[in-house]
Amino acid sequence: MTEIHEATTERQAILETVRRFVEHEVRPRSAALDARPNPEDCFSWELIEKAHELGLRTMTLEEKWGGLGLDSLTTAMVVEELATGDMGLAVVLAQTFKIAQLMQAAFNDEQRARVLPAFAKDPRGLLAIGMTEPGNGSDKHTNQPVPFRTSASRAPGGWVVNGMKHFISNGNRASHYLLMVQTDRGKTMANGSTCFLLERGRPGFTIGRVHDKMGERLANNAELVFQDCFVPDANVVGAVDKGSQVFARFSPQSNAYAGATVLGVAVALHRKAIDWASTRVQGGRRLIEHDGIRAQLAEMRMLIDASRAYVHRACWLADHQETGWDGTLGALPKAMAAQSAWKIATWTLEIHGGHGYMKEAGVEKLVRDAAAFLHSDGVNRTLFLKVANAMFGAMT
Ligand SMILES: Cc1cc2nc3c(=O)[nH]c(=O)nc-3n(C[C@H](O)[C@H](O)[C@H](O)COP(=O)(O)OP(=O)(O)OC[C@H]3O[C@@H](n4cnc5c(N)ncnc54)[C@H](O)[C@@H]3O)c2cc1C
Repeated sequence: MTEIHEATTERQAILETVRRFVEHEVRPRSAALDARPNPEDCFSWELIEKAHELGLRTMTLEEKWGGLGLDSLTTAMVVEELATGDMGLAVVLAQTFKIAQLMQAAFNDEQRARVLPAFAKDPRGLLAIGMTEPGNGSDKHTNQPVPFRTSASRAPGGWVVNGMKHFISNGNRASHYLLMVQTDRGKTMANGSTCFLLERGRPGFTIGRVHDKMGERLANNAELVFQDCFVPDANVVGAVDKGSQVFARFSPQSNAYAGATVLGVAVALHRKAIDWASTRVQGGRRLIEHDGIRAQLAEMRMLIDASRAYVHRACWLADHQETGWDGTLGALPKAMAAQSAWKIATWTLEIHGGHGYMKEAGVEKLVRDAAAFLHSDGVNRTLFLKVANAMFGAMT
């Protein structure tokens, strides 16, 4: 674990690049994009293309595929830094970082050669995962004995997919998708679903509604609709009926990246709370000179530091699983970071008094953003249930 604390030159250089990107490109645009009424207009290709020019979009791909080959710990640090500028943008890129890692690990040689170089070259290449369905939310995390409704039937040379997914991050923007589809309807999701690779524009695959969200608005979430969509056998990722294993085995750091994202928002909120408390005078002195406020600012620091340590531990161990990885790290660090961020959001609002409720203070956007990861990547309670099931066995 010593490596966690090592500030390698490469890591420092990347983080410096990200800080400049956030300061000069993301922060100046964030509030105006967030305020646009049509959710599709909140997304910015300009920011994605700038991230591409800096090598950030593809940074988790190995160098032989055109990336920087960054490890999971550095990636979490980058994600947090991006989210201090804007959470939506951080989500767009974090999804792409984690799915790129998953693809290069889970794909076979032919799939890697077909997809990864093309994705690396495309300045607008983004990635998405389609699991959630209108009738299937937390059940997919707790492996309830129900199948996905989006299903596929055998056809010569492949499969025909019908159904729909919703809430999918980058759903209307991605170039490539990983899709969970029920291939054996008589079985549970865990035993009868398959992971398919899908390219944007495949006949029978269309984008439905783009969801209007309360926060995280620079990221788009959309419905994916499948009507007799043919997917060739060559696009099956891993083994048929073993889709769940693809995610469990090749994406151990995924949930911790979600924790890093919401942590970035917590950091931005904490900075605002300190700035405000340092200048606002009430009771004859600055707020920061009142014991109650000072103590609360220190407690926020504790929540951020402890959450970050947990997220970093999960990411480092995801890359060094032989040294102590366990499944709780795929759920608890995100839940802790999300709960901490939510607490920090409400405290920051309180420290700002009525000013925090006024949009001009910029706190309300961060509060809306901080709420996103109470539910995204698994509702926190669902993640606790998942861990409890692993600890004590599933309830029958
Ligand atoms: C911003 C955002 C981005 C997202 N991005 C993606 C994405 O890219 N890809 C994707 O596939 N999905 C995505 N999702 C979907 C997300 O994973 C689901 O919203 C989440 O899994 C919860 O499902 P649900 O919303 O249907 O809630 P539900 O499952 O209906 O849960 C509602 C409540 O019931 C509780 N509950 C559920 N089951 C139980 C139980 N057995 N016992 C006790 N309590 C229970 C939950 O904890 C929760 O409090 C995204 C969601 C959001 C909000």
